[in-house]
Amino acid sequence: MKPAPFDYHAPRQLKEAAELLAKLPNAKILAGGQSLVPMMNFRYVIVDHLIDLGGLDELRGVAVREGLLRIGAMTRQRDLETSPDIAKHCPLMAEALRHVGHRQTRNRGTIGGSLAHADPAAELPAVCAAYDAVIHVASVRGIRQVAFKEFGAGFMATALQPDEMIAAIDLPLWRNSHGHGFHEFARRQGDFAITGAAALLDVGANNVVRRAALTLFGVTASPLRVAAAEARLIGQPLDADAIRAAAAAAWLIEPISDIHAGGEYRRHLAQVLSSRALNDAARRAGLQNQE
Ligand SMILES: Cc1cc2nc3c(=O)[nH]c(=O)nc-3n(C[C@H](O)[C@H](O)[C@H](O)COP(=O)(O)OP(=O)(O)OC[C@H]3O[C@@H](n4cnc5c(N)ncnc54)[C@H](O)[C@@H]3O)c2cc1C
Repeated sequence: MKPAPFDYHAPRQLKEAAELLAKLPNAKILAGGQSLVPMMNFRYVIVDHLIDLGGLDELRGVAVREGLLRIGAMTRQRDLETSPDIAKHCPLMAEALRHVGHRQTRNRGTIGGSLAHADPAAELPAVCAAYDAVIHVASVRGIRQVAFKEFGAGFMATALQPDEMIAAIDLPLWRNSHGHGFHEFARRQGDFAITGAAALLDVGANNVVRRAALTLFGVTASPLRVAAAEARLIGQPLDADAIRAAAAAAWLIEPISDIHAGGEYRRHLAQVLSSRALNDAARRAGLQNQE
């Protein structure tokens, strides 16, 4: 299959890209092309103009500043996977990336492309939900910031307007001593997950949980923070009972059913994977495995 004909544009600056996106009809951003190009080849997507952000060095890279990690939208998934800053400050992302497609797709795929594509089973949006990321959205009107919980807008839809693009992602840092856990279930290595769970735990004096984040993905249109699970942990001593009670809160969710799995099966996976992710996070935060 070949895509329908289109005009190709290669801006060198963010301002130029924003102007093209504002003025060209039926235009789309090209990042790593790992989702867009197959969709164009199958003619699920037909565009008149492709605006390739590949030449915008200003949208690439990882920086640590004032309590947050700033990641350029065009940073490739493989570069994040091997970044010492990601390994040190955001080990959950490093672990999640190993489940994203294959090394070949990660060599081209970008974090911005993954967030804009917004597949319900994608790993990087789940990591952004866990860290309460802030998305920097660029257009001819300048940059606006969108909290990640406002970014999803239904199945494979985002808060981006047609003339807007993701420029960067901010992840507010947790203490370096925090623990993380990431588990997913997929039919084969490299497939999109049927369901997955990402956990973060920060444990203080007397083993009391200061902060907790439990995020499920593949269960609803956008990644789901399980507030009931977090409430069962925060302020409590971290032990096997607390983890069991938190993971049990995953039973309260209402997962989607599709051709890959029914909702009941996803709910079961959500509970099992939450337990594993929370146990890993607890162990890394200084506890022995509580399973
Ligand atoms: C075989 C295979 C297996 C895969 N498995 C997984 C997996 O397990 N988990 C997973 O998460 N992903 C998986 N993917 C998808 C992969 O992660 C893609 O890289 C990702 O979905 C899109 O990133 P990209 O940079 O390639 O974006 P592109 O394909 O270039 O773009 C995707 C969409 O996002 C838009 N877009 C891109 N960048 C921006 C931006 N900065 N601002 C606004 N809009 C933008 C594009 O216009 C397009 O609509 C897989 C892909 C393949 C081919």
